[in-house]
Amino acid sequence: MKPYIFNIQKFSLHDGPGIRTTVFFKGCPLSCQWCHNPESQCFEPEMMLEKRAEKENSDQVGTVYSVRELVKILKRDEIFYDQSGGGVTLSGGEVMAQDMDFVVDLLKNLVREGISVVIDTSGYARTENFERVLAYTDLFLYDLKVIRDDLHKEYTGVSNELILKNLKYLSDQGAAIELRMIMVHDVNMDEETINLTIKWLKEEKIKLRGVTLLPYHDFGREKYKKLNRECTQNFEKPTEEALNRVKDRLEAAGYPVKIHS
Ligand code: SF4
Repeated sequence: MKPYIFNIQKFSLHDGPGIRTTVFFKGCPLSCQWCHNPESQCFEPEMMLEKRAEKENSDQVGTVYSVRELVKILKRDEIFYDQSGGGVTLSGGEVMAQDMDFVVDLLKNLVREGISVVIDTSGYARTENFERVLAYTDLFLYDLKVIRDDLHKEYTGVSNELILKNLKYLSDQGAAIELRMIMVHDVNMDEETINLTIKWLKEEKIKLRGVTLLPYHDFGREKYKKLNRECTQNFEKPTEEALNRVKDRLEAAGYPVKIHS
C-alpha cells in the first residue's frame, strides 16, 4: 500500500545540510509523550480542524502520491539544492516503517536525478529496511531519545533495543550519522543519563558526524486540539544552562554538538 504523506516542506534549513525539501510520511510506531506532530502518528488519513478567514474547516491530513509525482515535485527545487549543497530529506512520522518498496523506489529515482537524500528516523524499524536504503542515503539523522530502556518504554511506548541495534548496524556499515537527542527537562538531561549515553556510544564504537540537541517545545499543543485529541504533555522546556551542560559533556567526550534553535 502506498504511504500517506502529510506535508512537503520546502526551504527547510534544519533537516540536514543546505536547503532541503522535506517529505513527511504519515505513521509512526512510537507514541512519544512530547511529540509535536501528533498528525504524524496514525498511518491512516485523519481530519484536522483548520481556521481560515474566521471560518473553521476540517481538512484531510494525508495524501497519496506516486513515486513519479513526488519526484516531479521534489525536482522543482533542484536549483536550491545545487546552490546550497542541499537535497531532499525523508522524515515523518517514521519513513522507515512505511512500505519499503515505495521508499526504495523513491530513493533510487532521486539518486538517479542526482539529488542527495537524508533520512530522518527514530530508528524503530526492521534492520533489513535500513540495509535496503543504505546505498542511496547520504546521511541519517538518527534519534536517540532515552538510553534507559525502562524510561524509553514509559515515554515512547516502545523499547529502545531495536533502535540501538540499528544504530550500531548503520555505524558498522560506515553510514554517515548525525545523532539527534530530544532534550526534555526531568526526563533525559541529567548527568547520569548523559553519562550512560556516552558510555554506550563508546563501548559500541558508534561513529558520529556530530550530535544535535533538540530542546523540547510545546508548539504542537494546538494540533492535538485540532485533531480532537487530548494533549497530556506536561513538560518544562529545558534552560539554556542545562542544554549547555549536556553540550559540554558530549563535547568533552569528543562529539561535535549543535543546539537546535
Ligand atoms: S518518533 Fe517522532 S513522530 Fe514518532 S511519536 Fe515520537 S516524536 Fe512523534
